[in-house]
Amino acid sequence: MNCPLCKGKMQNGTTHVLIDRGEDSVIVINKVPALICEQCGDDFIDIQTTRRIEALLKKLETEGLRMGFVDYTRAA
Ligand SMILES: [Zn+2]
Repeated sequence: MNCPLCKGKMQNGTTHVLIDRGEDSVIVINKVPALICEQCGDDFIDIQTTRRIEALLKKLETEGLRMGFVDYTRAA
């Protein structure tokens, strides 16, 4: 696919996602698979990956993690 912003070419890569929920809760998920634009560097995360991130966040919540860095691979 092409970048929705600049129509540049998108390549498979990884990115990180920052979830800022305020109230002292900030979680960064690293190594998230995404398409990265060659031109502007914008990233696109597909719906399945987004759902997995949501599931991972729920899991972290039950574990009581409110702040920190987590690898996306933990969602697998
Ligand atoms: Zn772009």
